[in-house]
Amino acid sequence: MSVASRPTVSFDNQFSRELAELSLPWQAEETPDPHLLVLNEPLASDLGFDSTWLRSPDGVALLTGRSVPDGATPVAQAYAGHQFGGYSPRLGDGRALLLGEVVDDAGRRRDVHLKGSGQTPFARGGDGLAAVGPMLREYIVSEAMHALGIPTTRALAVVGTGRSVYRETRLPGAVLARVASSHLRVGTFQYARATGDTDLLRRLADHAIARHYPHAAGADNPYLQLLDDVAASQAELLARWMLVGFVHGVMNTDNMTISGETIDYGPCAFMEAFDPATVYSSIDTGGRYAYGAQPHIAQWNLARLAETLLPLLHHDQEQAVELATTSLARFPTTYSSAWATGMRAKLGLPDTVSAKDADPLVDDLVTLLQQQRADYTSFFRGLSGVVRGDAEPTRSIVENMTGFDAWVQRWLELQPDADTMDRVNPVYVPRNHLVEEALAAGTDGDLGPLTRLLDAVTDPYRERPGLERYAEPAPADFGPYRTFCGT
Ligand code: AMP
Ligand code: MG
Repeated sequence: MSVASRPTVSFDNQFSRELAELSLPWQAEETPDPHLLVLNEPLASDLGFDSTWLRSPDGVALLTGRSVPDGATPVAQAYAGHQFGGYSPRLGDGRALLLGEVVDDAGRRRDVHLKGSGQTPFARGGDGLAAVGPMLREYIVSEAMHALGIPTTRALAVVGTGRSVYRETRLPGAVLARVASSHLRVGTFQYARATGDTDLLRRLADHAIARHYPHAAGADNPYLQLLDDVAASQAELLARWMLVGFVHGVMNTDNMTISGETIDYGPCAFMEAFDPATVYSSIDTGGRYAYGAQPHIAQWNLARLAETLLPLLHHDQEQAVELATTSLARFPTTYSSAWATGMRAKLGLPDTVSAKDADPLVDDLVTLLQQQRADYTSFFRGLSGVVRGDAEPTRSIVENMTGFDAWVQRWLELQPDADTMDRVNPVYVPRNHLVEEALAAGTDGDLGPLTRLLDAVTDPYRERPGLERYAEPAPADFGPYRTFCGT
């Protein structure tokens, strides 16, 4: 077999060039027996890669960081972060590398990043590795989020390394190749600010503006505009998470992007029975990152970002604080309005319905959902059936049918549109029991369940015969769900 020895794509290293203080050149650890487990062919071709080449030994070497393409300078990125509220001044990529950036034909710059590629100077005693299961989880959930239209990092590939990883047991190791519009985090700004070097902070902010919010450069106060824009992107993102029932699980400031993409899929999950107190992370014992707490936590994280920007907002600290406070105070309104717009779409309400009619209906639905503990995804998808005259499947999953019937009657009077609803209420989300099934099989070398689950969740709005089990909640014996982070 003859294969090209070079990628068809050229890499750049703008981040490490412009912000050398924020990264350390590093290289990936050797992989004893690299083998491709899953490749995202549409994303590969979107980036300009030839999938046949990526599947070749040279391509797999690129996907594990063992061969460095021209123009790339692999680096471990430095960042700080508040983890569960406690500040760590030096986190950084302990087991990851930014390989470089790829600029596509449309001029869009994207990071290619590796996770599980070995210890770096930021490893802090960690082994620098990742197990197959958690890397497949990130692949499944991030691709599902993308298909749902939610801003997110993407998964390009998972490669098994042939190396064992020791957690509670011995597990096969893997490297995830991740694609993001950047890996700038709130924690990146915290790190830059803590150096005390205002010039570095300004260069970081300029880099973020150029990359994500170029129009801010022309604003009266570009750095205030940056804060406004990040806050608006995060408010929109959080509304999207909440509308689809997504629980991130570890909303530390190092896991919140400047771009507004979802990042770092650890102990994340999709909620089944509606309950704002839902927590999946085994380490989140206090419920800090529970489903219903997420918008508030996002605003808390943005306050940490605002603190780092103070020296750039105004030379007078008091005035800087005032500007930041005013900017952040808009977050609840931006969030609520994005959420209300999304809820109206989920309920198929025509534009002619006024907020005066829609808002109480939505409020009552939230109360009803909480009393019913109905499966969140099935409930909303089923509502279009109610409009079409088939209420039974949805009635059968609620506990209080009288309350539900009364609510439905009020709602139907507003003449909801079933087709609109089917475009925004997914049939298939990566349900916890299905994800676990796919990860367990994948860990044992059987990628069939993963492939079938990906088929369902990457085309989430189109109901297809034969995929019924992918639309159903977990069986009762699945029990309360917990996932583990950082593994
Ligand atoms: P995460 O929970 O994946 O967001 O990671 C939080 C921090 O811990 C980051 O600085 C990671 O690089 C680091 N980290 C997590 N797992 C490992 C590991 N196995 N080895 C080294 N560093 C790790
Ligand atoms: Mg992280």
